[in-house]
Amino acid sequence: MKILVVEDERDLMEAIVASLQREQYVVETASTLTAATDKASIYEYDCILLDIGLPDGSGLQLLQELKQLGKAENVIIISAKDSLDDKLTGLELGADDYLTKPFHIAELNARVKAVLRRKTLNGKNAIELGNVVLDLNDRLLNVNQQPVTLNRKEFDVLSYFMLNRKRLVTKTALAEHVWGDNIDQADNLDFIYYQIKNLRKKLQTAGAEIEIEAVYGIGYKLIEL
Ligand code: CA
Repeated sequence: MKILVVEDERDLMEAIVASLQREQYVVETASTLTAATDKASIYEYDCILLDIGLPDGSGLQLLQELKQLGKAENVIIISAKDSLDDKLTGLELGADDYLTKPFHIAELNARVKAVLRRKTLNGKNAIELGNVVLDLNDRLLNVNQQPVTLNRKEFDVLSYFMLNRKRLVTKTALAEHVWGDNIDQADNLDFIYYQIKNLRKKLQTAGAEIEIEAVYGIGYKLIEL
């Protein structure tokens, strides 16, 4: 799961980032409206934490643009002002939730989890496919009711595939999602091949009824066996 944090207060930004990284999310940051708008137009995020009072404008402008793109539903506004107007405008523009500063980091984590659950799992914590159950909350994989150990990146790769199981996943999309936005500056994406090779082996050994199939020259697709 990849999250964009838009916040110009450095201390708060650092606290939020540290906390989200502890929860094993891939975290990207922007401290101005311009940077946030650039990132949101280029990359995909599962959740965006959006401060309203930014040095070069209002976070609500970005929300407006996201709404036009149909991407506003995974935004949580974090605002310093307990302003009813901002809150109403934000929710009207399609934001999922609204937190007033100062808030407890645990509260933020809970709200992020709720957004991700709603967005990706229709309210559940786990994705099931054949005999494979992936619990996104506790980060556990069970195949045939037996636990299978995955490393952090293998888990992220598999969850991305399971959430996009009907789609062809390009190498770039997978890399950006699991390794972060800057991966598009990497010289090559060979490491993905090795991660997937290991993951495939683990799935096969466990007797999983799913397989990650390579689509030559493009990427991968998750198929049911
Ligand atoms: Ca601010």
